[in-house]
Amino acid sequence: MTLATPAGHLWRPYTQMRHAAAPLEAVATHGTRIRLADGRELVDGIASWWTAVHGYNHPHIAGAVAEQLARMPHVMFGGLTHAPAEALARRLAALLPGDLDHVFLSDSGSVAVEVALKMAAQMWINRGVSGRTKVLAFRGGYHGDTMGAMSVCDPEEGMHRRFGAYLPSQIFCDLPRGAAETAALDAALAAYRDTLAAVIVEPLVQGAGGMRTHPPEVLATIAGLARRHGLPLIADEIFTGFGRTGTLFACEQAGIVPDILCLSKALTGGTMALAATVARTEVFAAFWSEDPAAALMHGPTFMANPLACAAANASLDLFETEPRLSQARAIAERLAAGLAPLRRVPGVADVRVLGAIGAVQFARAPDLAVLKAELLARGVWVRPFGDIVYLTPALTIDAADLDRLIEAVAGVVTELAPGST
Ligand code: PLP
Repeated sequence: MTLATPAGHLWRPYTQMRHAAAPLEAVATHGTRIRLADGRELVDGIASWWTAVHGYNHPHIAGAVAEQLARMPHVMFGGLTHAPAEALARRLAALLPGDLDHVFLSDSGSVAVEVALKMAAQMWINRGVSGRTKVLAFRGGYHGDTMGAMSVCDPEEGMHRRFGAYLPSQIFCDLPRGAAETAALDAALAAYRDTLAAVIVEPLVQGAGGMRTHPPEVLATIAGLARRHGLPLIADEIFTGFGRTGTLFACEQAGIVPDILCLSKALTGGTMALAATVARTEVFAAFWSEDPAAALMHGPTFMANPLACAAANASLDLFETEPRLSQARAIAERLAAGLAPLRRVPGVADVRVLGAIGAVQFARAPDLAVLKAELLARGVWVRPFGDIVYLTPALTIDAADLDRLIEAVAGVVTELAPGST
């Protein structure tokens, strides 16, 4: 059987191949711009799925990767180690709050979440406690596309809802935004305590689930309840890590230290696939044993890839030497000023800004194809999804490019919000 598709042999992400418009061909990137094969240059509003925090092609990262490429692009991590991974682990441990000191490197956000879930499960097994096979997660959450990560995504609204029968069943609660939800969470933790291995949350913002923000107090409540019920808290900072919310890590704003924390995306400044699952000493201690079977049973082939570690170290250098966090806060102010007026547009349900994240939520899902085409026509690369159009630009974006993004979003929202005419 032959199926004619404009995309040739490539199977595209989250895409109905039958109807999809041919993707645009990118030929080069620089700063906050993407150049297309047809000569157009787009201002990038989403930093390649929230990764390119320093903009594209930062010379410091490119130089570090080139040097590492010449020396040792890859070497297996079983039984061997290397300076870029050692330095990265040391630096992450120093930057992360509390005793989040034990760094397991892998190659994507979803895998970092799988490792976190496995760490929590095996921690109980190693302690001789059986039956703790479930995780408590929050409605509206998204943690990745692999099976374990899918099982803790929102089971009803999330993109993986059709897979329910294939996934381990987990316990879901609403974020404790008020007294009733807090009581419900407390009750669920009490009811399921002996079957729960961990609680998992995206701190301060549920990203792919709809750019839904919550105040630090909500995160602090979750951390407090998890602690009270003796459960490890997994903070999925894959989206929020590295300045996106205005602090280096979102957990800092709530003053909490999760037991396990996941990082990826901006870890390499958006240049290379790398992820880290970082555990507190109490978690690590459960694996510290005379028993070889108590070792963490995980080891991706490309874990701790030296090129990716070199990129991550160079990215951390930039956080030390360039003012990323104040840039994030300046972006927040501009996004708030530029997007807030859209609250008054008929057909707009909400406008949310947190750090370098700005989201406009429509009252009804718009025609995404039309919205995307209109954004492109305005010379910007912005990818609305569901009922959301959002901006997560590079933290290095200049005022002129940021204003172009804001104007483009304001323009399409005003013209195209369902119910606006
Ligand atoms: N967790 C969160 C919070 C994410 O936003 C994502 C990706 O968007 C993931 C996990 C999965 O990461 P990856 O796409 O690298 O597997």
